[in-house]
Amino acid sequence: MHSLVSPRIFFVRLLALSFLAAAAFSFLQCKGRAAAAEAANSRPNIVLIFCDDLAYGDLASYGNKKAKTPNLDRMAAEGMRFTDFYVGQPVCSASRAALLTGCYPNRVGIQGALPPRARTGLNPREITIAEILKERGYATAIYGKWHLGDSPECLPTRQGFDEYFGLPYSNDMWPNHPTSGTNYPPLPLFENEKVVELMPDQTKLTTWYTERAVKFIEKNKERPFFLYLPHSMPHVPLHVSDKHKGKSGSGLYGDVIMEIDWSVGEILKTLKQNGLDEKTLVMFSSDNGPWLLYGNHAGDARPLREGKMTSFEGGVREPFIARWPGRIPAGKVSHELATAMDLLPTFARVAGGKVPADRIIDGKDIWPLLSGEPEAKSPHKAYYYYWGDHLQAVRSGPWKLHLPHEYASVEPAGKDGKPGKNRNRLIGLELFNLEADPGETTDVSDRNSDVMEQLEKLAEACRLDLGDSATKTKGKGVREPARISPIVAQAQNGNVLLHSRDVSIHGINVRYEPQTNKNTIGFWTRKEDWVSWDFEILKPGTFEVEILQGCGKGSGGSEVDFAVGDQVLPITVQDTGHFQNFVPRVIGKYALTKAGQYTLSVKPRTKPGVAVMDLRQVMLKPTRE
Ligand code: MG
Repeated sequence: MHSLVSPRIFFVRLLALSFLAAAAFSFLQCKGRAAAAEAANSRPNIVLIFCDDLAYGDLASYGNKKAKTPNLDRMAAEGMRFTDFYVGQPVCSASRAALLTGCYPNRVGIQGALPPRARTGLNPREITIAEILKERGYATAIYGKWHLGDSPECLPTRQGFDEYFGLPYSNDMWPNHPTSGTNYPPLPLFENEKVVELMPDQTKLTTWYTERAVKFIEKNKERPFFLYLPHSMPHVPLHVSDKHKGKSGSGLYGDVIMEIDWSVGEILKTLKQNGLDEKTLVMFSSDNGPWLLYGNHAGDARPLREGKMTSFEGGVREPFIARWPGRIPAGKVSHELATAMDLLPTFARVAGGKVPADRIIDGKDIWPLLSGEPEAKSPHKAYYYYWGDHLQAVRSGPWKLHLPHEYASVEPAGKDGKPGKNRNRLIGLELFNLEADPGETTDVSDRNSDVMEQLEKLAEACRLDLGDSATKTKGKGVREPARISPIVAQAQNGNVLLHSRDVSIHGINVRYEPQTNKNTIGFWTRKEDWVSWDFEILKPGTFEVEILQGCGKGSGGSEVDFAVGDQVLPITVQDTGHFQNFVPRVIGKYALTKAGQYTLSVKPRTKPGVAVMDLRQVMLKPTRE
């Protein structure tokens, strides 16, 4: 058969084809290598600056004509700012839990503002932004206010941060509080897990945090880093260094904002000097709106309504500025709804990290918004306004429905560091169009019954998931916070009762078993598991130690050390016939010769039977020596 193509032409075509294929292959290979290289490089530094109680209207870029915030203005001009950015709840700890876990605060069990020696904290099982980035090889640090639990197991160093320097909670939780100082112990300043100073000079805080931040950037300029800078300011009591005192022309609050802006300037300058501008995503926001109770020592959320601790926009809507030259378009403003919870998935995306897949994460990746993708829309169908466990409002699109609730409105406001008075007010079922009416002034519920119905449906679905104290709904999607056992106080008669219900657990199996017939430390099936109590001695002396212990038939013989410091009382567990057959027994004495805090630990050395023992309590009784 006559071929249509001569062998020569066929050969040339074959050659051309194979050349094309090779070229295509090498192009693809190149592209693959480029993608791989980009993935390897796709670990931008992340700097997250987070203020405390800064208001929506405090910055010049958010309309404040008096504000002296040139560095933040520049950051907004070189990056993107958001008009509809929400935090998790209008109060410190809850908001920070949302930021760091990407979840509604009630999902992770953190509410309100945790007090000193808090009995709850962010569960170490939650996965924070710092942990996600650390897994990607980031150096991680926090300089500033933590406020997610001040017991050792809840500190930042247990939540993915290599370094910590700052306050464990709010700067007003100290003996100098204007109305409730007696409630508070001396304010500690932490370096990692150690208290390095009590009652630090607060005029230095912003400077100290900034100096640490600058050093951290310089130290880690050759590797990816995550710097979390949660300022203690402008939360009351306001403090500013001499650098900025009296410089703003608008009072102490203005000076404090000026100093925060200075700090932002130092960060931006350091990034530039180290050639890190194009490699660094910098973000700025705050945990909640202004504490209006403090009058001239609070910020200004206008045009939004109300402030901190309310579900009005002034409580939860915050300035949000993001800058990453070359990656985030300059000078843009986004009106899409975004939240602090979105930062976790967004950081995971830009750093090539993983969003936890074994649990619900409420935040969404907002990189399409940040990178200026045309037509990018908010990934959120709705935002839910909670105060504690109470669902108070829901927003979808421009619509916000308030469910009937009380709220604290300030009247009169305080002045110069002294709080004013809160008055309870009531808002009924009211609907606002936030696009037309961001100040929530005009209820339009009577004209929009279909919208109301939709929002009520969203609220109902949310209740089933996250719960609602108003309807006594228990949420199916909520997780437990860390629960910290209390510091046991010495009784009037001098006794110290270390009961199993107050014990701290260190291990996998051992636990407090609350059933009335048990009411004991039990399931002590691993020799590696141990327990401890913290207690406080006010009247020092020598104490007889009496334990109430049970042990099942044939399981006796475990050797266990009861220790306070280097005073160790070793025992051999006695078989009492049944684990819940408790028998009192004096095991020795401790000399606790100074007033103060002690820890008693109970650690097994051997475990010949099925379990170490059941231990209901340890009693320390003063002796008359
Ligand atoms: Mg706050």
